[in-house]
Parts: sequence; C-alpha cells; structure tokens
Amino acid sequence: MEPEVIRDKEAMRKWSRTIRSQNKTIGLVPTMGYLHEGHLSLVRQSLTLADVTVVSIYVNPGQFSPTEDLSTYPSDFSGDLSKLAALSGAKVVVFNPKNLYDYNEGERKKKINGGGEKKVVSCVEEGGLGHETWIRVERLEKGLCGKSRPAFFRGVATIVTKLFNIVEPDFAVFGKKDYQQWRIIQRMVRDLDFGIEIVGLDIAREKDGLAMSSRNVRLSDEERQRALSISKSLAMAKASVTEGKTNSAELRDMIIQEVVGAAGRIDYVEIVDQESLEGVEEIKSGVVICVAAWFGTVRLIDNIEINVSL
Ligand code: AMP
Repeated sequence: MEPEVIRDKEAMRKWSRTIRSQNKTIGLVPTMGYLHEGHLSLVRQSLTLADVTVVSIYVNPGQFSPTEDLSTYPSDFSGDLSKLAALSGAKVVVFNPKNLYDYNEGERKKKINGGGEKKVVSCVEEGGLGHETWIRVERLEKGLCGKSRPAFFRGVATIVTKLFNIVEPDFAVFGKKDYQQWRIIQRMVRDLDFGIEIVGLDIAREKDGLAMSSRNVRLSDEERQRALSISKSLAMAKASVTEGKTNSAELRDMIIQEVVGAAGRIDYVEIVDQESLEGVEEIKSGVVICVAAWFGTVRLIDNIEINVSL
C-alpha cells in the first residue's frame, strides 16, 4: 500500500498532533527524494524506533548556492512512493511540501519581475519578503564541506529545524554519509534543547563500494568507475592505520594520489576528530577520514570512521 502523502505544513502538524494524542511516537527521516537503499535503511531504522515514520521529501533550496545543482537534482516521486510502499506503507507517511520558504510568492514574483535589485545569497530570496531567519552552528559548520559551501549548513540546519517544528518527531534518523551534517544536527538539538533523539546510521554502499547517493545517477559509466577511487582509498587508509601507519599527512597524501590519479578533482581530504571535527596530526581511535571530490560535474562525499584500539 502506498503511503499517505501530506503536502501542506498545517495538515502535517495536525496529523502529528493526532498521532501524539494517541500516545504514539513519531520518527522523522528528512530526505531530498530520489530514494535509494541508503535512505531506505534510515526508514527501516526509524520504523524500529517509532510507531510511525514521516519521510520528508523536499529539495531544500536554502542549502543550494545559485551556482549549484538545484535545477538538475534528480527526482522520481512515484518511484519513491513505490519503494516506501514495499517497506511498510501503513506506518509511513510522506511529507512533500511544495515550498517551505515562500510566504508570499505572488509579491516576490512581482518584485523580481519589476527588476528591483535583489540580493541572492542562496537559492532562497533574502530581503524581507521571503525567509530571513537562519540557524547557524557556528564552529562545526566552518570546516570540511562548509569551506567550499559557506551557506550550505545554515540551509540544512534551518530546514531541519523547520521540519522538526512542523512534524514534532520523537526521533530523527540521519545518515553518516553526510557526517558533518549529522554532527551539526546533533549539536543543534543539544544547544537549542529540541526534545528529539538524533540517530546516525552507517553508510549504505553499492556492491563495489561506492557510497550510495542520489547524485550517482548523474555520473557517466566512466566517471562512476573512476569515482570508486574514493571508497577504495578510504578502505586502504583504514587498513594502513590498523597496520600502524598513524601519520595523518601521509595518509592524506595517499588518498589524494589515488583520487587524483583517477581524475577526480579533490575538494578536501581531512582527518578529523569524530565529535569536534577538528583536524588531527596523529591518527587514533575516534577519528573520521572525510573526502569530497568532483568527478565531471558531480561532487561526491564519503568517509570512514576509525574506531579501533591502536
Ligand atoms: P539526501 O536525500 O541526500 O538529503 O539524504 C537524506 C538522508 O539520507 C541524509 O540523512 C543522508 O545522510 C542519508 N543518506 C544519503 N545517502 C546515504 C547512504 N549512502 N547511506 C546512509 N545514509 C545516506
């Protein structure tokens, strides 16, 4: 049975409050759609934690800069619904709002069409007519992906806050594929006293090791093959650590060589503490190795946690 789809935020809140009045718990899995096994693993986890699960499918304009791939982000809403139906449709509800930022679409269009100067710092209009309140997790958002995408995490933290306020879940499940995002949401929930338990799940991978991502569909066959260098080099790095190589700089160089050798354009390779996300010089248990690299026009991220006694 296909899940119920709720498109309006007031209806979503009403639905959640009805569920709560029945003393049932709610899990939330925020996604941007084009669901794959990684997303479904989060939904399965949520179904074990909560009585009902809300899967939000919303491509958040607030986390894309004007030069990024918002317009080409893949979507297949009916495919997503079928995948969710195959899980446990009755306990899953899909929240698929049209736009969570435009409070006054008509007026905004008039202003833009009227040719007035507008300041665009992300794909969400700034300047009073639309959205102007943002959540920033100031230190954690700065490194890793935040360096090349300075407005990204404020968009993520803000949309997740909005979803938390609309859905009012007991649990929210995130993937560790977006490691920095998961840590930022955990910190935000702690700092702002959200009464929501944040759960992080391991990365789901294709058989050949590639981290699953909605963006993988935009890789050519050849780029996809070359992109395997990311997961391969991360696995090699972890193996080297267990063999006693604990110098961060050497391991970074090894990963960079592998990825660049496969014609990937590196955004970053960083070895950081799992909680603080601060760089470390000597590798020890409790670090995570994070990579972001471009293959063609597609930016991929991946990481591997090191949790061994050395
Ligand atoms: P997205 O639709 O890319 O915004 O992702 C929605 C959620 O799914 C986020 O919490 C991601 O971290 C998670 N996710 C995406 N890809 C994977 C994966 N390969 N394994 C586990 N979780 C994932």
